[in-house]
Amino acid sequence: MQFAEFATRASEMEAEPADLATVALVRDLFCDAGDDLPVVVRFVHGRVFPAWDSTTLDVGPRLLRGAIARAAGQNVTAADVEDRLAEEGEIGAVAAGYDFGGQRGLAAFAGGDDDGLTVAEVDETLRELAAAAGSGSEDRKLNTLFGLFNRTTPEEARYLARLVLGEMRIGVGEGTVRDAIAEAFLAVEETGETTDSEADDEPNDETRDETDGETRDESEERAAADDDEDPLTRATDEQLRAVERALQVSNDHGMVAAVARDDGESGLADVRLEVGRPVQAMLAQAGTAADALDEWGEAAVERKFDGARVQVHVEPDDEGETAGVSLYSRNMDDVTAALPDVVEFVESRVDAPVILDGEVVAVDDDGAPRPFQEILRRFRRKHDVDRMRDAVRVELHAFDCLHADGEDLLDAPVTERHARLSDVLDDAGAVSDLLVSDDGDEIAAFEEAALEAGHEGIMLKNPASAYSPGNRGKNWLKRKPDVETVDLVVTGAEWGEGRRANHLGTFLLSVRDGGDYVEIGKVATGITDEELADLSTLLEPEIVSENGQTVELNPSVVFEVGYEEIQASPTYSSGYALRFPRFVAVREDKEVADADSLARIERLAESESR
Ligand code: AMP
Repeated sequence: MQFAEFATRASEMEAEPADLATVALVRDLFCDAGDDLPVVVRFVHGRVFPAWDSTTLDVGPRLLRGAIARAAGQNVTAADVEDRLAEEGEIGAVAAGYDFGGQRGLAAFAGGDDDGLTVAEVDETLRELAAAAGSGSEDRKLNTLFGLFNRTTPEEARYLARLVLGEMRIGVGEGTVRDAIAEAFLAVEETGETTDSEADDEPNDETRDETDGETRDESEERAAADDDEDPLTRATDEQLRAVERALQVSNDHGMVAAVARDDGESGLADVRLEVGRPVQAMLAQAGTAADALDEWGEAAVERKFDGARVQVHVEPDDEGETAGVSLYSRNMDDVTAALPDVVEFVESRVDAPVILDGEVVAVDDDGAPRPFQEILRRFRRKHDVDRMRDAVRVELHAFDCLHADGEDLLDAPVTERHARLSDVLDDAGAVSDLLVSDDGDEIAAFEEAALEAGHEGIMLKNPASAYSPGNRGKNWLKRKPDVETVDLVVTGAEWGEGRRANHLGTFLLSVRDGGDYVEIGKVATGITDEELADLSTLLEPEIVSENGQTVELNPSVVFEVGYEEIQASPTYSSGYALRFPRFVAVREDKEVADADSLARIERLAESESR
């Protein structure tokens, strides 16, 4: 494909305000791209390299302005280009404003015909440029860019300049590319034919049903859009998901488009993880243990490490020994060079090809976590790596295993992936502890211990769930400590059992309601043995009556209590209950008259339900 053709299509997309019509334009471009499909797919969203590849062109705005000035002619300086940029606000518009002579210029210069730039040529030249390193590389880059601009028409110059800076600004994002791939190569028209003529005889097509997987809303939307002449065939949800999954697994949009075209949905299903090609990290929503247990019955609970996400790839060599460790950030940048201590650790503990997910945490000499800012001093460092290695000690905490020994584990449940992690990483200390529990108190105790050890909180994972790359879904919940606490009056207690038989163990909590107290819950979690003894000493004199294990207390002591949620509940006389209450402290500075009122509890419950 000629680069001029690509630029014309890009300008049509830029001018198109409607989303569906943009998808249709991108689809058409993909259908017409032929052998250049992978490159065109990358170019359309401003990439020369696939998303998994950390390689950059390493061309800053200054170098680009220099190249544009040089191509614009002897009378134009980099400062002139800068002035125009200040006026136009955007480098593409500036580049399009000069007459570089386009194909005519070079033809005249070379004394022959220039057929114009092709997409493949631009791609190849930019890749060479990215590889230029060492002394004089700036000049070589400038020359190379000059050579390219010298052959562009204004329209080509606009998109070349933007491509070099990695921003196409034509309204084509990830979702549009995904939809366009599905529309171009998978969607089936009413006649049963794909929109792409090359794929007409693809065997899978016959079995596809156009409305398969469509929700009611979508079919209504489609019907409404039909009145408006829907520009799309409308790929099914299943087809969109097939493209999306392959993109998440590979992060290579160009390759996925080619597979969709050449091998259809079954080809996409075969796209596998590859060691050395980072995957998008699965993300978490905020949530509580109550949410987790309500939703899943039981939860897989881990400590939430306060560090930087790292994906560990261990590659085998021909003999089956591990040959290399690469580390990637949450954004899939290669951070291997910054963390030689983690690389050495992994080399010594893993001897199979694997992809692990985890967190790198800065620690003090005793192994206790240090604040998050400390890891940032190490994470992307390019210089002084060895000096900083001594200054900031780091540890790997691995919590997931996505691939082991040639097997992709993305679809395996959390518990199985964790078991594989323990198998492949020969260091129990580096494998995140996993508690699978359906008991709120047990989870609260785990959380308490995590916080006490200096971690940020806990992660709650659906034990049965798969790893969904790039997804911030409901299967991973991050739970940080309560931001809100309430101050409650202790109006009763229960004697403990076993080792705690001599102490009051569970405390009945109440809120003020006018001059009265109404009950809202009980707290037994978050109290150390030492605190229990102190609390008994403090409260025993306040015992008014006893009935078996249960005692009634004179309202005199105020507890600060953390909780996950306040719910309307018939169990207690206030009409509310705390979910997962956790003892924080005795408010010695507060009288019972200063404790929270029922009105505040009502307000808190109300604001939570919004
Ligand atoms: P946040 O950065 O607050 O959105 O929380 C999510 C992040 O917590 C993840 O992206 C990880 O970097 C980090 N994290 C720490 N510990 C864990 C864990 N055990 N499981 C998953 N993510 C974790």
